[in-house]
Amino acid sequence: MSDCVFCRIIAGQIPSTRVFEDEHTLAFMDLGQVNPGHVLVAVKKHAANIYALDDAQAAAVARVSARVARAVEAAFKPEGLSVYQANGKAAGQTVFHYHVHLLPRHESDGIEFTWPVKNPPREKLEEYAAKIRARLA
Ligand SMILES: [Zn+2]
Repeated sequence: MSDCVFCRIIAGQIPSTRVFEDEHTLAFMDLGQVNPGHVLVAVKKHAANIYALDDAQAAAVARVSARVARAVEAAFKPEGLSVYQANGKAAGQTVFHYHVHLLPRHESDGIEFTWPVKNPPREKLEEYAAKIRARLA
C-alpha cells in the first residue's frame, strides 16, 4: 500500500467525497475544506510536483481545474477564488503528490492555512460536492 495519502484516496483505500473524475485527474474535497466548496484537483498517477507532470497530465489539470472552478463559482457564489499549488518544501509543499487547490474566498474569511485541516462531517462534504456536481456541464 502506498504511503501517499493522495494515491490512497485515488485508489479508493481512503474514502473521499468526489466531485469529478476523468482519465488523468480526480477532484475531491476531503483534504482541506478550508471554506465550503474547497476542491482539490489531483493527478491520478503519482507525480510529486509540477516538474514531474507529462504534458497530458498538465493539460488535464488545467482543463479540469477551470471546469470545476466554474461549477464552484456557480454553486457557492464566493467573492473570489484562490487557485494555488506548492512545489518543493521551500515553497510550502507539505504533501508530495501534485494537486491544485480551488478555494472559494470571502472578504471576511481571514484564512490561515494549517495542516492537517479540519473537515466538516462527510454528509456536509457530500452536500457541497452535490452542489458542484449539479453545475458541472
Ligand atoms: Zn501519490
